Amino acid sequence: MTAVEPRALASYPFLREASRFVKERGPTLEELLRDIAYAGARGAGVERVRAALERGRVDPPACRLDHECLAEMLAYICARFVVSVAGSPALTRRYSLMEAERAAEMLRLEPPETVAAVCEELGLPVERPGGMFLMHFAPYLRFAVPNQAEWKLINRRLRRGMVELDQPTVCRLAQNALRARFDTELPLAVPDPVKEVFAGEARALKNEADARLQKFQPKELGKVRIMAFPPCMRHLLATAQAGENVPHSGRFAIVAFLHSLGVPSEEIMKAFAGSPDFQEDKTRYQVEHITGVTSGTEYSAPGCETMRTYGICFEPDSLCRREWMTHPMKYYRVKMGPGKGKRAEDRGQGTGTDGKAAGSGQ
Ligand code: SF4
Repeated sequence: MTAVEPRALASYPFLREASRFVKERGPTLEELLRDIAYAGARGAGVERVRAALERGRVDPPACRLDHECLAEMLAYICARFVVSVAGSPALTRRYSLMEAERAAEMLRLEPPETVAAVCEELGLPVERPGGMFLMHFAPYLRFAVPNQAEWKLINRRLRRGMVELDQPTVCRLAQNALRARFDTELPLAVPDPVKEVFAGEARALKNEADARLQKFQPKELGKVRIMAFPPCMRHLLATAQAGENVPHSGRFAIVAFLHSLGVPSEEIMKAFAGSPDFQEDKTRYQVEHITGVTSGTEYSAPGCETMRTYGICFEPDSLCRREWMTHPMKYYRVKMGPGKGKRAEDRGQGTGTDGKAAGSGQ
């Protein structure tokens, strides 16, 4: 990256240029860990991780002067130390996602040349003929949002192997690339002095992350038999429970599906607790909206055709390929055998409806 303003480096502290800046102008590791002058940066590093965990957000930098920007870069370094010492995969995933989202949020407001320079360093080279962004389809596919129709190559404009993109889309790709990079980098193999300095705070944050996860740990889903789920719903549930992000359309589908099977809202919420972007209030709002608690409208899961359009019909099996298979609920009922899985049918959601409100005529 050629723009080396300290303010820019504080915004994107993962850049090589930021490391160079810290090496030239910053403290040694020993000074960073022990010197009273850097106590603020160490504390800000801890707070950065805490903000990611508790608020689901890492704020953009508020620095103007060079030394303030340096402190911001040091806080980033300390935050990485903290998650590495904590050794909690859930905390690391959440922190990584929030750092990546922070960078993407700021990039969206940058001039295109800054976006291009940051993308270049993240392994996403772009060309900018006539003001637009062009990216080769290979890196595009590597970092495109999976299982979402709008990200499929078939729904993009291609010019001789290059995908035409707007700035928000490029920034989203940068976010995914950055997250992938953090996933490979973290946790860092930190030396003992780093462990000593951050042990207490790291333990407290790990305990908090574990407690949050425990509170919503899915135990069982009542009488529902997961082995009778269609491949699409098994995949969505497993993805959510593994702590991976599920696309919005997928969340809607699995929430409505579980609700149709009679799984209580509180149990449905637990399925999403491991997601790195899990926020109790936001998830509760979404679940209660779909299940009709707050909206007054109970939605049913989308039918197979809509699931395919969303790109979330996952590895259909031989039962899925039967010509009459039109809905995930139908799949479940067939698997359960005669007279089973009746609750949805009783509510008029068994086969015919398609992501619509039960009984609402929508
Ligand atoms: S065919 Fe239908 S039930 Fe089977 S995986 Fe696809 S969406 Fe799910």
